[in-house]
Amino acid sequence: LDTSALRIIADENRHLAHNYHPLPVVIARGDGAWVTDVEGKRYLDLLSAYSALNFGHGHPAILAAAREQLERLTLTSRAYHNDRLGPFATALARLCGKDLVLPMNTGAEAVETGIKVARAWGYRVKGIAPDAATIVVADGNFHGRTTTIVGFSDDPQSRDGFGPFAPGFVHVPFGDADAIDAAIDANTAAVLIEPIQGEAGVIIPPDGYLAAVREICTRRGVLFIADEIQSGLGRVGTTFACDREGVVPDLYLLGKALGGGILPVSAVVGDAAVLGVIGAGEHGSTFGGNPLAAAVGLRVVEMLETGEFQARAAALGEHLAVLLDALVGHGVTAVRVAGLWAGVDIDSAVGTGREIAERLLARGVLVKDTHGQTIRIAPPIVVRATELDWAVEQLRVVLAG
Ligand code: PLP
Repeated sequence: LDTSALRIIADENRHLAHNYHPLPVVIARGDGAWVTDVEGKRYLDLLSAYSALNFGHGHPAILAAAREQLERLTLTSRAYHNDRLGPFATALARLCGKDLVLPMNTGAEAVETGIKVARAWGYRVKGIAPDAATIVVADGNFHGRTTTIVGFSDDPQSRDGFGPFAPGFVHVPFGDADAIDAAIDANTAAVLIEPIQGEAGVIIPPDGYLAAVREICTRRGVLFIADEIQSGLGRVGTTFACDREGVVPDLYLLGKALGGGILPVSAVVGDAAVLGVIGAGEHGSTFGGNPLAAAVGLRVVEMLETGEFQARAAALGEHLAVLLDALVGHGVTAVRVAGLWAGVDIDSAVGTGREIAERLLARGVLVKDTHGQTIRIAPPIVVRATELDWAVEQLRVVLAG
């Protein structure tokens, strides 16, 4: 590392809480699928800020929407109306095929909102006894970092030492629809799952799982909440990962790419019969639905409405799958690909996920490890096929030692 980068990292470490362990690179600029560090060295970004950068760094159409709104009006709070929020909600509801949108900021806030909506629906519509509502969640889930959410994580690093936790969550194995059916009882308000588990390592459930979850939830009178915060908005080659099985959940939880890589924008989207249970004064956020976020979110929805990014992610994903499959048995033990999103399990004989990420960094490719032996590949959808060729060639070289 160059001394100036080392100095920046040392300065940062002095006053920044150590809640992350970043790769040792200091990024100063971004453009499309590429970033440039403080020394001018370029890297292909195969993480996309955990899929918040689906449209790449500095997409001109999103920047233009943000710039225009920045000059006009940025924040009102929901104490007043603003002229951007309605058009954003209308467009996002249309994209989801739903009636209503509840705007928040971060993904964890959307999840918390979904939990509140599910409980309110459980008491007010389903008739569950006060404070008895439960929500079925999956082993291996990742839904964010608030105390309620980490309370139903089974990852010790996320959870241990942060209790006491909110009760009312029931665990089932991910990918097992029968287990959901068995876990539901009269107090169950909702089933909350990631259609594809991201942080767990891009874990794709068996074919038919999402359709079965939908059927079970409908039959048992329980809400199906799909956390599409990482899987949604084009990443898997369709607008939502649920689309892969033609399934529509009762509530979509959206975030990350909804903010166009510019600012945090999240939302819960559902029909009036469900999301309509929340009344004035019962939920909100100072920044949720602010006009700058709404202008950016509207542009993101408009870009997704063309279908262009979904088609590109699907085509590039097929290409990526072929490239990665060829590495199995050569330092890679397994590969899971859904659209332009891959989990690559590294053979422990060649190193940990972190070590592979560090070696790739030295060769100009940015990836992030998850859960020890897995690296996740989620390039901006604007990446070129030839850039994927080059990046996977770097991975092949690194794996070969
Ligand atoms: N849900 C899923 C599926 C996620 O992957 C994440 C973040 O990685 C979150 C929720 C939390 O989002 P945020 O970090 O914006 O709170």
